[in-house]
Amino acid sequence: MARIHQLPQSLINKIAAGEVIERPASVVKELMENAIDAGATRVDVSIRAGGTELIRVADNGCGMAPDDLPLAIASHATSKLASAEDLFRVRTLGFRGEALASIAEVSQVVIRSRTADQTGGAEIAVNGGAVADVVPCGCPVGTIIEVRNLFFNTPVRRKFLRSTQTEMGHVTEAFQRIALASPQVHCTLRHNDHPVAELPVGEAWQERIATCFGRDLAQNLVWVESHDGDIALTGYVALPSYSRSNNRMQYFFLNGRHIRDRSLQHALGEAYRGLLLTGRFPVAFLAFHMPPDAVDVNVHPTKLEVRFQDSGRIYSQLLSTLRTKFLTTDLNHHVPAPAPAVADPTGAHDDLEAARMRQELVDWAKGKVEAWDRDDRATGTDRQTGLDLEPPSPPAPSGPLELTLIGPHFSPRPPALASGRAPARAECEPASEAHEASVASLPAQETPGGGSSNAWIGRAPAPSPKAMQVQNRYLVAESSDGLEVIDQHALHERILYEQLRSRVEANQLDVQTLLVPEPVDLSPAEAVTALEHRETLARLGLRIEPFGGGTILVSSYPAMLTHFHPGDVLRELLDALQADGKQLDRRDLLGELLHMIACKAAVKAGDRLSPDEIEALLAQRHLVDDAHHCPHGRPTALVFTNEDLDRHFKRI
Ligand code: ADP
Ligand code: MG
Repeated sequence: MARIHQLPQSLINKIAAGEVIERPASVVKELMENAIDAGATRVDVSIRAGGTELIRVADNGCGMAPDDLPLAIASHATSKLASAEDLFRVRTLGFRGEALASIAEVSQVVIRSRTADQTGGAEIAVNGGAVADVVPCGCPVGTIIEVRNLFFNTPVRRKFLRSTQTEMGHVTEAFQRIALASPQVHCTLRHNDHPVAELPVGEAWQERIATCFGRDLAQNLVWVESHDGDIALTGYVALPSYSRSNNRMQYFFLNGRHIRDRSLQHALGEAYRGLLLTGRFPVAFLAFHMPPDAVDVNVHPTKLEVRFQDSGRIYSQLLSTLRTKFLTTDLNHHVPAPAPAVADPTGAHDDLEAARMRQELVDWAKGKVEAWDRDDRATGTDRQTGLDLEPPSPPAPSGPLELTLIGPHFSPRPPALASGRAPARAECEPASEAHEASVASLPAQETPGGGSSNAWIGRAPAPSPKAMQVQNRYLVAESSDGLEVIDQHALHERILYEQLRSRVEANQLDVQTLLVPEPVDLSPAEAVTALEHRETLARLGLRIEPFGGGTILVSSYPAMLTHFHPGDVLRELLDALQADGKQLDRRDLLGELLHMIACKAAVKAGDRLSPDEIEALLAQRHLVDDAHHCPHGRPTALVFTNEDLDRHFKRI
């Protein structure tokens, strides 16, 4: 084995840099945090080429004296800690004295700074760790730091950088976290000289959230606030109808620092228990304030994770604050007037629907949740796979719903089920309770020959169906050698999936073009993801264009989803794209999105089908290669052979 030797300082710095500086977004985070620690009331961030060419952060904080400049970029040099005790009462965002040293080691940095009592500024340049002399320069009070060619001397790191758009997405996310954590600071972000975000001071926090994540979300937030001794909790949580399929939209702040904390995420999930289906995550922006010695922030190199002195207390404070709030709050999603393209023919019933949803949620809050849990267990729902976790069954519609049959294909969801901006939930991608409630409360449309829910069975309509519908979700059919119980949603989804796939492959997908492109407000990170997958989305008929900031214009979308709002379709596709831990290649991705569209367009459990519809559905079974499994792998049918039946009834 080679002899042990002390590593040179520059190598130590490079190793340390690897921990703190992963990509341009990390630089933005560290520089903005320094600006805020310096007492700045304004921070301007300007980026070129996703931060790979230039990251410039200018602040109007206290600035640095010329003599301090070489120290600022030395490792383990900080003005924020003096003694070991200070480490346990950190009041600043930084304290490790490592960020500037790390950044300067792997890029070309120029710092210009001036304190209030100096007449001119001072400048220091560092090139991959090589420090030049301090020289005078002109500069306003405050600090301007320019970081060029990140990782120019660490090619391996540079290779790991993704596209400009992806890196800019991360930069924007980092910028937003800090801007949300410090509402007292005016923050701006520009990319390639175009403004991305402008967050002035003095506006309400909700306004800042609106600028970052869209007005629609910001208008559907519930304010929460509580004090437990010296721990204060304030912030917003979103209505259940704004749930997501991942936890990216859960923002926690602690003493002005954005943090990630599994236990807080869990408490949040618990608070929404019964309001959301498995696999859906609430959206929240929550800020804790507590004495600095009640928390250890020195447990993670980028200080993203912290350790609370009494994490149990904080967990229960969050849970009980939200639960108490939910008991007294109208958690109903106030549906904005639907866009004309998706006008809900049953719109007249919105008020009734709202009242019903409200009642359902109040019932939940009063303890209905336990009853549902019991039901879950009774029906043997598989919590491990998370599949088919049904919410409490909505009351059956009073009459058959009309489904239009188009040509030889079974139609997608009927207009009656597309309720404005709150579409029926997709079964395999569980959605919020509120969506379910909106389906449940839709008045059924009477079809000629309709009537009470099962009147047709007795009437033997012509042609007589080869199957009957039970519980509005299964079809029981006679087969040549026994009988089959078919899951109507799973089968329809499978059929639609196969049809969609072959049409996409043949480039023959029916597309609905919008006369006026529909603007959709997304978070900048989501917009970046959307644009990254623009080609794949276009193959599915969803054509999008950037419109500046987080706004995306949708100019067409799959005809099969005509009855859904284009914005909702885009958001759900994005959720599928962004789901945590999924690294999909292009083909898998297309498959995943096809599943989502098929699932969304298919009839749902709970939809009453007419005999014609049942027949049409069964008639198409031969069109699919594997009619026995839905695209998610769930079986679509249970088969009982004559022999099974005879054996069961002890005939053989
Ligand atoms: P830390 O923030 O952990 O102290 P950094 O490497 O980020 O370590 O910064 C080192 C020091 O440089 C800080 O302690 C601070 O004194 C000074 N400094 C960095 N950026 C600024 C700034 N924008 N304004 C004033 N001082 C700064
Ligand atoms: Mg710092």
